[in-house]
Amino acid sequence: MNLEKYGDNITTLIDAVTGGLGNDEKTFLSQCDTLESVGLLQEDDALVGFARFKRGERYYISNEMVDFYTEMVGCLEPFEKAGEWEYLARANNLLGIVSMNRGNAPFAMDYYSKALSYCRQHALKSLEIMMNLNIGSLFLLVDEFDEAIGRFQNSYDMTEEVNLNPDEYYSYLSAALLGLSKALLRRGDMHAARDMFERLEAACAGRLEIHDELAVNCFGAILYNSLGDRDQRDRFISLVGATDMNELPVMDVFDDLYDYLSMLSETGQNAEFDRIVKELDTMVVKTNVRNLERRLVQLQLQNARARGKGDEYSALSERFFELYETTERENRLMVRNMLRLRGSFNDLARINREVEEENRQLQKKSVTDPLTQMENRAALNGYAGLSFDRARRADIGWAIEILDIDYFKEYNDNYGHQAGDECITFVAGQIKELSKNPGVFTARYGGDEFVVIYEGYSDTEVFEMAKSLKENILKRAVEHKFTKSYMKIVTVSQGIFWGKPTEGTTAWNFLHAADALLYRAKNKSRNSIMLGHVLGDDDEQAWVG
Ligand code: GH3
Ligand code: MG
Repeated sequence: MNLEKYGDNITTLIDAVTGGLGNDEKTFLSQCDTLESVGLLQEDDALVGFARFKRGERYYISNEMVDFYTEMVGCLEPFEKAGEWEYLARANNLLGIVSMNRGNAPFAMDYYSKALSYCRQHALKSLEIMMNLNIGSLFLLVDEFDEAIGRFQNSYDMTEEVNLNPDEYYSYLSAALLGLSKALLRRGDMHAARDMFERLEAACAGRLEIHDELAVNCFGAILYNSLGDRDQRDRFISLVGATDMNELPVMDVFDDLYDYLSMLSETGQNAEFDRIVKELDTMVVKTNVRNLERRLVQLQLQNARARGKGDEYSALSERFFELYETTERENRLMVRNMLRLRGSFNDLARINREVEEENRQLQKKSVTDPLTQMENRAALNGYAGLSFDRARRADIGWAIEILDIDYFKEYNDNYGHQAGDECITFVAGQIKELSKNPGVFTARYGGDEFVVIYEGYSDTEVFEMAKSLKENILKRAVEHKFTKSYMKIVTVSQGIFWGKPTEGTTAWNFLHAADALLYRAKNKSRNSIMLGHVLGDDDEQAWVG
């Protein structure tokens, strides 16, 4: 950017922002805001683009992908008008990386190619190397090993030819050699891969930044694992283990860590697997990039299966399926809109915001029952296990209740479906009242069935709450002429199982017991409560209300 045309104030701000990526967020962002306003006021596209680009870069580093996308797409048009080719190439490159991590290779290729052509047209050598490296990685991702090798070789050659500063030189050199080694290993040339890796180590040892070093160490472990050299493998595992993950841009290291985790899982190194998954999980959730989350859950699934962890496996399967649907939809939307809006950058930013908003809505919908606005079965599945474990650790009482409307079929058949819906909504409203008590969770289980979880209450307290619910429903005396009971009003039957959770039992054991009790309540008289115990005299005890 040509700084000469600006006065001292602006130049100082530009300098502060240029060198200020690591500074505190508020100051940095407000400096960018000032630059953007000045740019807009003076119709200075370079300045507007610069402010947006810098904010985008900041969000990239802090892994806030929605804001990143908005800023980065927003800087393209002003930069193009201002002829800021280097910034344009950089922005396209970052957008390519993010698209790749969203699982959208064609999008990524589009951005990378655009960046590469800016580099070639305007002799931006250093950036051209970076673009070839990234395109190489993209080919690697889709198993095009020979194409990948071509790109990495080209990057390597240019790295040796072009005059680079030492930081850039070592970063590119290690990335090129690492890419070559990866492609060779994946193509089956194990020994060539090792030779390449040894070259990399000899050239770059001690000279790399933390994320480049992490990538090298992850791959080192994978490589020596394939070669059957356990000592070397374990040496790299301990190097990875010593890395402080907190400061890493997750986008740059995700693929390396993912491959690494896969190796840990296959070789049964579960403690290390769990530890890294946990760290990565927080980082990934923050990015809001569902595809990263999906790939992480996929790994956890494979691991849970290998370890025979059934409960975890089914919870993860459900999450995986949800993420799968969301990312599929997200991709379809993105591709459709890109085709429609090619070239219109602002629209693309808007579309991206819409996609995110729709995802938020969808996520909310996926755990909310549309008729009653209660939590649904998926939400219950998520909540029950967590609550149960909490109660077990705290050694407190835990109960689960299944509640079902009596002779609801008769209600529905005679008053009509619409009235049936209203009846369900009425009962749901009464049940929701219970969740005002701390530790009480309510959900619609499906049809005319509901579930209540009581965390941290004694059996008598639970019974009293369940009874108050029953009485509230009776008090409202909603007419039901077609019930087979003698009272011609809407009533419910309740089965509750109470106990102190112990190791080896699950929320589902309790739920099944509660279901059996509901069945007995139905058979007995309906309009009644059956409460069973883990620690009863024989097996259970019943109160009929
Ligand atoms: P029981 O006392 O033994 O529970 O008998 P029931 O008639 O209530 O029998 P059941 O629970 O099997 O009947 C549930 C009925 O609920 C069947 C179905 O037609 C109806 N239903 C399920 N979901 C909905 C819904 O969302 N709206 C309406 N209006 N009806 C529903
Ligand atoms: Mg019923």
